[in-house]
Amino acid sequence: MMKSIRGMNDVLPDDIWKWQKLESVLLKLLNSFNYKEIRTPILEKTDVFVRGVGENTDIVEKEIYLFDDRNGESICLRPEGTAGVIRACIEHGLVAQHTCKLWYLGNMFRYERPQKGRQRQFYQLGVEYLGENSYICEIELLVMQSRLWKELDICSQAKLHINSIGGNETRKSYKEALVRYYHNYFDELDSDSQRRLTTNPLRILDSKNAKTQALFERAPKLIDFMSNIELDRFDNIKKALNELGIEYIVDYSLVRGLDYYNDFVFEWKLTELLGAQNTICAGGRYDFLTKQFDYKEVPAVGFAIGIDRLLLALGESKASFLSNEPKVCDIFFACLGTQAQVKGIAIREEIMEKMPHIKTHLEVGKSTLKNMLKKSNQIMADYAIIIGENELEKNTVQIKALKIDKFSKESLSYVQQEIDFCKVVDYIAKIYLIK
Ligand code: ATP
Ligand code: MG
Repeated sequence: MMKSIRGMNDVLPDDIWKWQKLESVLLKLLNSFNYKEIRTPILEKTDVFVRGVGENTDIVEKEIYLFDDRNGESICLRPEGTAGVIRACIEHGLVAQHTCKLWYLGNMFRYERPQKGRQRQFYQLGVEYLGENSYICEIELLVMQSRLWKELDICSQAKLHINSIGGNETRKSYKEALVRYYHNYFDELDSDSQRRLTTNPLRILDSKNAKTQALFERAPKLIDFMSNIELDRFDNIKKALNELGIEYIVDYSLVRGLDYYNDFVFEWKLTELLGAQNTICAGGRYDFLTKQFDYKEVPAVGFAIGIDRLLLALGESKASFLSNEPKVCDIFFACLGTQAQVKGIAIREEIMEKMPHIKTHLEVGKSTLKNMLKKSNQIMADYAIIIGENELEKNTVQIKALKIDKFSKESLSYVQQEIDFCKVVDYIAKIYLIK
């Protein structure tokens, strides 16, 4: 049997409503905060990520899906969304004068070990606020996220972790201090961290190794290297969060896995609902990414939500958000024979013309009436419109109200009425427009 690529999952028809329901909530929220969608290609030139995300990051070193195209140009499947969005904004002059409030939703690819909450193809919703360096942008994004958790009913479980990684100068002197400190404990570091000591020392803070984590407790802290301006900025964010009633945990080991960040960084975690992969949303400020693309400085802040992980969490939670599958069918057409089916389609067209919100299903096969009604019951339609030979001759239909009998799933209690073709639409309109 042919199978999908490891770590790349199908979303099957019975589950798709969950994705669509979440996407519609996200779309509404982003619209109401006045963000606009941008769609960029899934493939980019490799350089976009080498420069954007950083050469010495896990993403670029180990996770990127990379290949040469037929012309021998190095291209890759996007591992994240921000670098491509910035590439597009520069290319089309979007950030030349104005601020841009953008969002994207799409699949990302990373060659990682597949496990719960970690795939090789996954979906991210990302938001980028470009062209403003006020800390109020950070606040707007955090408020928007917090509103989303409320709407999804996971507000009490979502924990916000924040940190500041300072400006470039601060990080430079901090890195030097870190390297000096960890050199003393070189043999105690895990092998990844030993390597990072020369390539990307800040990432040692991100290590999942317990021994390495313990070493951090006595390591120099970035906050002691920050300038007053940087400290003020971080304090202002904390103050605003306090004022807005958004709880947070200051986490000095939070550094994020992409090189482009400066100053404020954050993650939202759902520790109670998810296992090891419990970060559902992450982001921060990145004022110098455009300079990596040889463009002028454009201050920016953004975040991305892992949609697959968020859905996993919503499934685990007792939240009401995914408890009710939306109704798939209001009116079920049970038409016996092709001639009756054509008639059914004609009636359905008239109904849709007047009541486009009504959901219908028309059986096309050669099923018996009994089986058709069984199916109409399974998909929980309100009404069945039945057209058999008799009805065709008399130019009528049977309209049957369907209801699952509480005591036996087999027996249907119903009211049935015979109605002329020409009166069906009025009859249905009375039911649904009045409702
Ligand atoms: P992690 O520490 O889990 O690897 P990350 O720092 O690599 O996360 P980001 O690049 O910040 O993740 O991506 C933002 C969000 O996208 C993550 O918080 C997570 O929810 C989701 N995400 C990242 N990688 C994957 C993956 N391989 N599979 C599923 N979701 C992912
Ligand atoms: Mg990762």
